[in-house]
Amino acid sequence: MTLTVLPETMSRELKLRCIGCDAALPPTLIYRCPDCGGILEVVRQKPEGRGWLRADFVADDITLGEGGTPFRELRPGLLHAGFRGRLLVKDETRNPSGSFKDRLVAAALSQAIALGATGIVSASSGNAGAAAACYAANAGIPAIVVCPDTTPRGKLAQIVAYGAALEQVPGHYGNAFEHARRLCAETGYANLTTTYLNPYGVDALRLIGQELHEQMEGVGPDWIAIPTSSGPLVKGVFQGFMDRAGKVPRLIAAQSEGCAPIARAFRDKKIDVDGWENPKTIASGISDPLLGYPEEGSLTLSLVRASKGVAHAVGDADIRTAMIDLAHKAGLFCEPTGAASLAAARDLFMKGTIGSTDTVVCIVTGHGFKDFAAWT
Ligand SMILES: [Zn+2]
Repeated sequence: MTLTVLPETMSRELKLRCIGCDAALPPTLIYRCPDCGGILEVVRQKPEGRGWLRADFVADDITLGEGGTPFRELRPGLLHAGFRGRLLVKDETRNPSGSFKDRLVAAALSQAIALGATGIVSASSGNAGAAAACYAANAGIPAIVVCPDTTPRGKLAQIVAYGAALEQVPGHYGNAFEHARRLCAETGYANLTTTYLNPYGVDALRLIGQELHEQMEGVGPDWIAIPTSSGPLVKGVFQGFMDRAGKVPRLIAAQSEGCAPIARAFRDKKIDVDGWENPKTIASGISDPLLGYPEEGSLTLSLVRASKGVAHAVGDADIRTAMIDLAHKAGLFCEPTGAASLAAARDLFMKGTIGSTDTVVCIVTGHGFKDFAAWT
């Protein structure tokens, strides 16, 4: 195939900034600051006279129609019998490969190809790998996906179905993260791992915040609950609302009690997040212990605090109940991770953190087709 050329609007005034030391860098295939090791983010000029569009982030020959997902109101009783406010869901299961990761991968792949990459690598708990495999197949370039050996079979099947090379590594997600880094060094492929590692992918997630702001017709909700692993989706929602409204609703970083490094640091009033030993949860998409890169969790925690929100962990039993209720009572078939947002919102309502007349948005991140075992 011919090399993807970014539209003028995508490349205009694009640069990278180190969140740690504020160094400015040209846009290349780089994943951490060469000076301080800090997380990199994209800085781009705002379009004149209009909002951001998908085309500002994703090349025409890469997009598969990701984003623009349904946003709908559910019965308040689905949150709790005593809840009198509004409950809404942002249904990210409706992206091309069935999760919000498509938004991130489409943008990261567009930049990778434009910058000369001949292949991609993705460390994944499953959904990002499926997205990477899907988009690489369409782009006609090879993809290597690295997953923990505990990854649900449905997710592995989807990755293989798209034709990617699948490598499984023992243990937790952090091992896959490190193995993917090594593979990139060996092959020269671009790293599309969807933690904060790829700044171009993370940057595109601001579109989900902007979409939510639009779909709320400019009236921001009180709370947005977000299933959270390392947390790029938290940053995306935060940035998107800042882009559109200059302020952010209170964000709930929803984690599982079996892997809750960010929620633990929030509870303990810490600034820095520590890695989580021995993650164990049915919510595979948020089973990221942050071992080896806890600074990513610290960044997410700082954004949650800046929004006056909370990081909150719920048990697997509550996640499963929320997952079943979304399917039985709202026709929304999701994997356990996708229901962690509703499970966390329910718990926070019962604890009195969420008020009885508040407006609550739950982002549902991944499709039920991905993890049939969770339903049996
Ligand atoms: Zn730096």
